[in-house]
Amino acid sequence: MDIQMASDAGGRGEQLSSLALRCAERLSLPFRDFYRELVAPVLYEGRTLPKVKGLPVSGAIDGTLEAAGIWVRAMNRLLIRTDLQRTTMLAWRQTLAPRGLVRTYRAWCPACLHDFAESGETVYEPLVWRVVEVVVCPVHTVWLETECPHCGRGKQPSFAAFTRVGCCRRCGKWLGRAVAKLTRASNSEFDVFSARTIESALALSNVEGSAELVTSDVAVRAIRDVFYEGSSAQMGRALGVLPSQIVHFAAGTFPAPLHLFVRACYATGATTKQIFQTNDFSDVARVRDGCEFEIRRSVPKRVQMSNALVKKLTEALAGDGSTSVMDIADSLNITSTTVWRRERELASRLALFHAGYAAQKMQRLKDQYQCEVIAFVKACQAQRISPGRRLIDESCGGIGRFSREWKWSVIKQAKAAIFGVGRDLAQEASESSPEETT
Ligand SMILES: [Zn+2]
Ligand SMILES: [Zn+2]
Repeated sequence: MDIQMASDAGGRGEQLSSLALRCAERLSLPFRDFYRELVAPVLYEGRTLPKVKGLPVSGAIDGTLEAAGIWVRAMNRLLIRTDLQRTTMLAWRQTLAPRGLVRTYRAWCPACLHDFAESGETVYEPLVWRVVEVVVCPVHTVWLETECPHCGRGKQPSFAAFTRVGCCRRCGKWLGRAVAKLTRASNSEFDVFSARTIESALALSNVEGSAELVTSDVAVRAIRDVFYEGSSAQMGRALGVLPSQIVHFAAGTFPAPLHLFVRACYATGATTKQIFQTNDFSDVARVRDGCEFEIRRSVPKRVQMSNALVKKLTEALAGDGSTSVMDIADSLNITSTTVWRRERELASRLALFHAGYAAQKMQRLKDQYQCEVIAFVKACQAQRISPGRRLIDESCGGIGRFSREWKWSVIKQAKAAIFGVGRDLAQEASESSPEETT
């Protein structure tokens, strides 16, 4: 298939899932069919295809894990290429800790998408959006978005049956739009630095051949020895990492996380090329004064999830009551049973609150109906018409709403008040037909 990568070199390379989506679009196939007919047979070559060929949904295919390797091989075959490793984080396997490196769900810069479309360039999703540490767009300095502004769906998977690149995975709407830049006050200097640094690092792996990157332990030892007099304690203090961890990173027990290297770039002024490729720091002056980092402890996913859940429940309780437990479950992609199991107390408070809101809302609608009935009957009286209750109900938008008994009593009362009791009763008797009383 003749399809070019959206961006050849540099830190804005395309992510593999974006390339796969564009292939499907190029063939005018829904992504689901492209996957089933073309990708899956190659992915499962030599093995039996699973009966139910569900779409892969997580960001793992752009990451450092096995799924990425398998997808790269399959897509290389399909596109008759050899270099698609560059569309994933695979080259960083020996250099960066895999945990918390790649987003499982999508993030995007609406301004980038808008620019691609406006300028007539290929619309694509850069790999840099997949990196967890990147929270602002390196080009536009706006926050990356993770929730669709049209339908509110967050936690968007890489693929859905009819997905198009740059569009929401649920409602399918275009996600690009012009967005105002971050203001200085938003305290995001380090976030912007971080995003730009990571983009420059990705340029190192976005190459045709194999990317020559040093392993994590080599990079950590170089930083420690050149900038911190060989002291893990000094380096740990300066970069907000426990010194004992630096010892392990330097020994190669496990790879260091990306944020350690980003902080090192910030504190020392070294470039990503120096840290990850050349290890030649001869032109870097010295450690920057007065920059401090907090120690970051990893938060397990389960805890993150329950934090998000508590936050949403608390927000809903502080709101107007329109949000239900079900709405919250939907927004977090979990079942409402999970919400109840994890946060029973908050969930039951919210359920009560929402029930009150719903009852009030129903009351408001009933009041409104009653007012309309009175106004309509008055208008009829002014024209000397005596309307039947069916006509009144229909004219006041009552069809299919409220209980019939209640509506009839409202109408009866209104007619009695406006036309007088006797008249109304007489008419009621003459007007009732078998069809209406059933
Ligand atoms: Zn952007
Ligand atoms: Zn949407």
